[in-house]
Amino acid sequence: MIGPNSTIGIFGSGQLGRMLAIEARKMGFRVACYSPANDSPTGQIADREISAPYEDLEKVRQFAESVDVVTFEFENIPAKTIEEASRFAPVHPKGEILYITQNRLREKTFLFGNDFPVAPFYKITTLADLEEAVEKTGFPCVLKTAGFGYDGKGQSKINSKEDIAPAFEKLDKDECVLEAFVDFEKEISVVCARSESGDFVHFGVFENDHANHILDVSFAPGAVAHNVWEEAVEIARGIAEKFEYVGTMCVEFFLQKNEELIVNEIAPRPHNSGHLTFDAAVASQFEQQLRAVCGMPLGSTKLVKPVAMANLLGDLWMDGEPDWSAAIESGAKLHLYGKNEPRPGRKMGHLTAMAETVEEAVAIVREARSRLTGIKEIKGIGR
Ligand code: AMP
Repeated sequence: MIGPNSTIGIFGSGQLGRMLAIEARKMGFRVACYSPANDSPTGQIADREISAPYEDLEKVRQFAESVDVVTFEFENIPAKTIEEASRFAPVHPKGEILYITQNRLREKTFLFGNDFPVAPFYKITTLADLEEAVEKTGFPCVLKTAGFGYDGKGQSKINSKEDIAPAFEKLDKDECVLEAFVDFEKEISVVCARSESGDFVHFGVFENDHANHILDVSFAPGAVAHNVWEEAVEIARGIAEKFEYVGTMCVEFFLQKNEELIVNEIAPRPHNSGHLTFDAAVASQFEQQLRAVCGMPLGSTKLVKPVAMANLLGDLWMDGEPDWSAAIESGAKLHLYGKNEPRPGRKMGHLTAMAETVEEAVAIVREARSRLTGIKEIKGIGR
């Protein structure tokens, strides 16, 4: 076991690393992070912040030699970087998992090949491939870049024949995936953790409401039928086992009207929908990651109360500094990630609230967020 006072090394330096670093600090670990950034959300909490390119393998080696275990908070770390680090320190989850999940085509091929449910998908490298694949999926369908896509970046919905060529030109990447459009009822996720000895824990089903392809509000427990809940957890468990996963992982799903589940994406790290565990769970998704990668027993995933989380994007700063006092008066808790440049669509922080019911918790976070700018939110749960 890698115990308190040891140093945990984190590749990436965003908010996921920040919350992991906070949990690590609470438990008496030392923290070092590595990314090209400076004064980063993670670096502000860590003992040491290394600012260097991921491709600088000499710096990567020095970093790995200086820590007791390496993990990551961002999946687009080059495979070579992870390979180099793993020569000098244990790396969890393993590089092979990162390699699969950082590319939609490899990820979907893995899921399909292991009988996990995915939407029909096709590899696209030329316009002719796309034209042929659209014949099979029909309209609408979604074209996505195979690599480096998240939060709806690098994707384009194709509604008709006229959209085909512009969608291909817009993405203009070496490799893309065409997916059938899923007419889902809800989006849900399961955040789970697995230890090296095969112990598995999960937080159950979270419901996720997106706005402009970016997660907006999550709440738990999700209001889904018992059989859907069980199946989602079993799929997450199955994926974790197939990967021999060590760490925290999230599986995002589309839930269709006929109650069938489709896996949309795997995140080989803590996930935005799991931020609500930071306040509401006995051991958060970040603490589970720490425990798993250090070979410690996993913690309790019990949620103390129904909980909701609302993201705070840079858009909220457009008319000046948000009114923080007004927001936190209402029982919501404020998390800010220490980013000093609020850009539209950039995740700057989140609010969480616990209540007797999820409806109440969602109402509190939405109300609190609307108080930041004085603009009323009228959406309820999941609509
Ligand atoms: P992604 O980056 O693939 O997670 O996509 C971001 C969001 O776009 C998802 O959370 C969905 O809201 C939407 N989306 C992506 N793919 C599809 C699809 N095949 N069918 C319907 N909606 C989709």
